[in-house]
Amino acid sequence: MRSFRKELTFHTPTRRAFINITPQVEAALKESGIREGLCLVNAMHITASVFINDDESGLHRDFERWLEKLAPEKPYEQYDHNGYEDNADAHIKRAIMGRECVAAVTAGKLDFGTWERIFYGEFDGKRDKRVLIKIIGE
Ligand code: ZN
Repeated sequence: MRSFRKELTFHTPTRRAFINITPQVEAALKESGIREGLCLVNAMHITASVFINDDESGLHRDFERWLEKLAPEKPYEQYDHNGYEDNADAHIKRAIMGRECVAAVTAGKLDFGTWERIFYGEFDGKRDKRVLIKIIGE
């Protein structure tokens, strides 16, 4: 069995963002040379997510509104975590949207359904944040 590891870095200009990172993951898979196996992609920060869903801007606005209803950013003082930091909402949003995704690798490609794409979900941006790609197989 072979394994391949790569980190991606994102720095969003806004506090929150959804970024389709499927092209970067596909490039990593190609670089790995692995044809059959599994591909793990995870956020390396506890205020960001990696998830699989549709690349449709209306849906992304729906996610943003839904997450703001569940864990509104403001007022900051509503959260016990805030004080030294102001990102309690970002921790909760990450918990809802998840840490990672795993995709099957078949014949050298991500074995996805028609509309599945991989997204990086940023909830406390404006700084460098890392995503790990780990691919195992042969
Ligand atoms: Zn925090």
